Amino acid sequence: MITVMKSFDYRDNELYCEDVKIEDVDRKVGTPFYLYSQKRIANNYRAFDEAFKEIDHLICYSYKANSNLSICKLLKEQGAGADIVSGGELYKALKVGVDPKKIVFSGVGKTQEEIEYALKSDILMLNVESIPELELTNKIAGKLKKKASVALRINPDIDPNTHPHISTGLAKSKFGIDISGAKEAYKKAEELKNIETMGIHMHIGSQITELEPFVDSLEKIVELIKELEKEGIKLRYLDIGGGLGISYKKDEKAPTSGEFAKKLLPLIKRLKYRIILEPGRAIIGDAGILVTKVLYIKKTKEKTFVIVDAAMNNLIRPTLYNAYHEIISIKKLRTTNSELRTTVDIVGPVCESGDYFAKNRELPEVKSGDLLAILDAGAYGFSMSSNYNARPKVAEVLVKKDRYRIIRKREDYSDLIRGEEI
Ligand SMILES: *Cc1c(COP(=O)(O)O)cnc(C)c1O
Repeated sequence: MITVMKSFDYRDNELYCEDVKIEDVDRKVGTPFYLYSQKRIANNYRAFDEAFKEIDHLICYSYKANSNLSICKLLKEQGAGADIVSGGELYKALKVGVDPKKIVFSGVGKTQEEIEYALKSDILMLNVESIPELELTNKIAGKLKKKASVALRINPDIDPNTHPHISTGLAKSKFGIDISGAKEAYKKAEELKNIETMGIHMHIGSQITELEPFVDSLEKIVELIKELEKEGIKLRYLDIGGGLGISYKKDEKAPTSGEFAKKLLPLIKRLKYRIILEPGRAIIGDAGILVTKVLYIKKTKEKTFVIVDAAMNNLIRPTLYNAYHEIISIKKLRTTNSELRTTVDIVGPVCESGDYFAKNRELPEVKSGDLLAILDAGAYGFSMSSNYNARPKVAEVLVKKDRYRIIRKREDYSDLIRGEEI
């Protein structure tokens, strides 16, 4: 069992990432910036891998959680494949040197160009999400004189009890092939001459903090596998997707990858299938923080606003998903004296009322110039960022022990007009 050490912690009241003092990074890089712990990423990956060691498995790290090349490279070196959802992510995975036979491609709206790119790259399999996509894939494979390796993404109609925007396995969702029509879809796939049906795929949502939805879905999928075998359809891969949540709130306990595996292994061990896992958030979520500087404290009749230099364009999760992120000062402030705590809204400079990181949050008194760390921002942080309000994207920094490296430089104004015409 690998124990995951704390990677962001105070020493003498100063916040460190591994052995790097975060204030020192600010002096070189300037806020806002994302900061990741290499050790934490590797440990999260290894814990996941270790948890499934008793069965034949492949971890395809989900690129959309964070596809910085250095992070993807680090995971590739640990043995990870890639779970991709676009031609752009395929391009990045190949750039990093991921073995194409470790790449799986999901998504409800793959274009002709993307399918072609995937087939030409000889990836492990396309996770096909509809009959029309299956037919188009067959046609393109024929044109390329190739056989397309596919899995069908099956929608098990299970409620994962997560935010509706990240819930993907309900009958009303756009994802996958309805489980009631799954057998027909497999029969159809068997008839198409340029399709090789290799597997079955499910992915029921993200930030799932209970194990029951995974178990319930997997039971349905295993049942389906048995029915398919009765029909003479024999598969080799069972891809159980990603979605394992993390603990954003201190008092909220998400299952560990070990607990996740322990619950699922009994269901899948007997199948003798190669198991594919697609974790994203569980690998990178708690390995990254967003560091931001307090610009102003603004008191109105109703509220106190802490205005910081990061904004919703850098981290959209609070406003998009009503997500909670722990926010701490990089200098440990005395928090025991309740008189020194205030209730504030932490907001950014963007011209939207939805531009906030926290509302009615109790915080020790902070002042202009102080640095704050928004925790657990490694997943769906930078990867969902935009240039809204013509704000250059921020730098990303990777820490390894007592050293750090800029793995994406801060954009400048010229980046904002790249490709535009006057
Ligand atoms: C987003 C996604 C994942 C990763 O989800 P996490 O919640 O980050 O683990 C895995 N598989 C597919 C198909 C996805 O769309």
